[in-house]
Amino acid sequence: MVDYQDAKVHVLTHSLHYGLGAFEGIRCYERADGQRMIFRLTEHIQRLFESCHICMIEVPYTVEQLERACIETVQANSFRECYLRPLAFLGHGKMGLSAVGNRTHVAIATWDWGAYLGEEGLSNGIRAKVSSFTRQHINASMVKGKITGQYVNSILAKREVMNAGYDEAIMLDTQGYVSEASGENIFVVYRGRVLTAPTGASILAGITRDTVIQLLQERGIEVVQAPFSRDMLYTADEIFMSGTAAEITPVREIDDRRIGDGKPGPITKIIQEAYFDQVRGSSDAHPEWLTLVE
Ligand code: PMP
Repeated sequence: MVDYQDAKVHVLTHSLHYGLGAFEGIRCYERADGQRMIFRLTEHIQRLFESCHICMIEVPYTVEQLERACIETVQANSFRECYLRPLAFLGHGKMGLSAVGNRTHVAIATWDWGAYLGEEGLSNGIRAKVSSFTRQHINASMVKGKITGQYVNSILAKREVMNAGYDEAIMLDTQGYVSEASGENIFVVYRGRVLTAPTGASILAGITRDTVIQLLQERGIEVVQAPFSRDMLYTADEIFMSGTAAEITPVREIDDRRIGDGKPGPITKIIQEAYFDQVRGSSDAHPEWLTLVE
């Protein structure tokens, strides 16, 4: 454990210059019985290893060691609920791009992080805008990796729409199909069917997205993974976003067009309730998704 003010890196840290690093975003919740549980910890740590594998970053730890380290970091900070940020990065040493031989470091930080897109957005829905920045091409960036440098694309989009007064940016892929938001996957209820971009598209394979697909399926609602166009957003019955930070956030407006009746719709409400019952409530449907902190 390193104190907050002592958690420093060298200015020549390779990942700081060139963006080759991988990270995760995880949440720990206090459930109805007062126990603290980290949600889908193993899947997040496995995705961190996959991101590193894609980047050819050798992680000098096992999945089990990093899971344990996450638990201990929450314990050391005495948080009842928090966000966890594991980060794997290349340290200083060689400054050439290949950086062969630079040490891989792994840090885990935790902090208190409320509703990422705001409490008001979580309850009543957010206003989103399609960004002028295109989501990265699947052979230019490795979109299945949660890779630090790739987030420049998301940040450009997010800043663009926030400066224009919107809450979140939606990005189209290089073919023009809807891919995802700057830090969330997108679900659209369209003519009675729930659609989301396919895993093979230019999207991060969100763990919340997977949770949504399973929870809806268990309630008899199939999610169709298929490409869809921008105008289908405008005429959708409901739209919501999913992500560890943003949880399940309804979207009430896109590009100044009201979505449905401008309020969270029935399927959005079903999945929001199911999700929060799973992470913070008393649902015992998926014990395999919960890691006890105590
Ligand atoms: N897409 C992007 C670009 C993201 O950064 C995130 C957040 N990790 C997501 C989707 C949602 O992923 P998850 O549900 O695993 O948090």
